[in-house]
Amino acid sequence: MPAKVIEKLCTGCRSCERHCPTGAIAVVAGVARVDADLCTECETCMESCMQGAVTMVARPGASAAGAGNL
Ligand code: SF4
Ligand code: SF4
Repeated sequence: MPAKVIEKLCTGCRSCERHCPTGAIAVVAGVARVDADLCTECETCMESCMQGAVTMVARPGASAAGAGNL
């Protein structure tokens, strides 16, 4: 579950950007955006966001159907 930014809560403070170990989250035009391909789901951004603007969500396209095919 990569990080997701709730845009209406984000103030563009860049705290998440500074803390992300992989550079997966960056502020663009005043709002943080996540590159899901780079996100390692470490939740550091969520912990560093004072606005509660970062949440963790299911990957688009990921479905329970694939979970049993290991
Ligand atoms: S969960 Fe971790 S890797 Fe993903 S955007 Fe947040 S800090 Fe970066
Ligand atoms: S730390 Fe939170 S408020 Fe600051 S830029 Fe990141 S998501 Fe937005």
